[in-house]
Amino acid sequence: MARAIFLDRDGVINRVVWRRGKPGSPRLVEEFRIDPAVLEPIRALHNAGLRLFVITNQPDLARGLLSWASLQRMNSLLSAQLPVEAIVVCPHDDRDDCDCRKPRPGMLKRIAAERQVELSGAFVIGDTWRDTGAARAAGCTSIILDRCYNRSDEADYRVKNFSEAVQLVIERTRL
Ligand SMILES: [Mg+2]
Ligand SMILES: [Zn+2]
Repeated sequence: MARAIFLDRDGVINRVVWRRGKPGSPRLVEEFRIDPAVLEPIRALHNAGLRLFVITNQPDLARGLLSWASLQRMNSLLSAQLPVEAIVVCPHDDRDDCDCRKPRPGMLKRIAAERQVELSGAFVIGDTWRDTGAARAAGCTSIILDRCYNRSDEADYRVKNFSEAVQLVIERTRL
């Protein structure tokens, strides 16, 4: 069975949007900027035979700060540029108490069930404890990209940047 890799979106594939000193998600399509440094490493993952999925918390939907129309345009931009099999979104906020908002593993489990993906042996690349928490809850290996806002967040691996994360995945997939 082909291995899977789950990518967080904001702060991994596209740049975070800083508001009042806090990293946040794009709310307008114009704010959605795919980091050019991820394009080639993501293609390398695909070429190495990994199945790519995006799992993203978008609580700004529940908060009325992001429209579904804008999100769908961002998804289209992402799918047009990157070989991802699916983009799964949690549109909830904490008070919805859903099972998909990371650090809960609902999005990972849903993909596993619907698309015959094995979670043990899969990797999650993220930039916060929410991603690594979901990875742990689902039995995946977590890799966190070292950022000024996540220094106290725990992960199986901490790497400097996205291409280092990809190198690690490709090395470990060969084992
Ligand atoms: Mg993120
Ligand atoms: Zn949810």
